[in-house]
Amino acid sequence: MKVLSNMLFSICLLPLVSACGGTSSGTQNADNGNAPENQEKQSVLENSAEKRSAKLLYMGHGSLRITTAEGKVIYIDPFAGNEKMYSPAADLILVTHNHFDHTQTDKIKNRNADCQIITWKEALKDGKHQSFDLEYARIEAVEAGYNKNHDVKECVGYIITLSDGKTVYVSGDTSKTRQMPQLAEKNIDYAFFCADGTYNMDLDEAAECARLVKAKHNIPYHIISKQGVFFDRKRAEQFNAPDRLIIDEGEEIEL
Ligand SMILES: [Zn+2]
Repeated sequence: MKVLSNMLFSICLLPLVSACGGTSSGTQNADNGNAPENQEKQSVLENSAEKRSAKLLYMGHGSLRITTAEGKVIYIDPFAGNEKMYSPAADLILVTHNHFDHTQTDKIKNRNADCQIITWKEALKDGKHQSFDLEYARIEAVEAGYNKNHDVKECVGYIITLSDGKTVYVSGDTSKTRQMPQLAEKNIDYAFFCADGTYNMDLDEAAECARLVKAKHNIPYHIISKQGVFFDRKRAEQFNAPDRLIIDEGEEIEL
């Protein structure tokens, strides 16, 4: 019996997108009900949510937090940032690759019951980049790698399309990819390019990538290789890309 229960446990760990909370997604809250007054409350909430914009907090290095208009919280590559920044309950955690400066998911202690985690393992299956349609966002994995520290088979970037149509691209750790010219078709609103020049492409190559991707706003991130320093404004100002946007460590912008 023990063997059987171990097997069942292993199978439970297999789903493509694993739940990182205590209960499975799609579980209806019994208190929610379908009474007309509850439905009305729900639609009022939805209407007010439509008027809010999504927000993006840059926590330093490659770490971001997006709060959608619906109030869903997405963490990307948890590593830099303080306890307070990681305190809002997570609905989704995205991880681009298996290096310690991207995988500190333990910093996210507060997670909603149906919180999901998508890593490079789920995002890149049999050499194919995957997409995930969630109620509040579409997550599309794209190529990343192409340098000696980052294998294209084990790294991804993500394009996150929010319910209001706004798109955010995070390059992950990478040099120029073959796919970048095709990303221009996606009319990306905010594109983050790594540019440390030690582990990944440098500021010049990152600017070249920005010219290929043609996003409305080009943001340098993951720009230093010094331990314990998560952003360098002076280096960011050397990012010579069109439509450059510099977001300081700890700054939150409206999308
Ligand atoms: Zn990194």
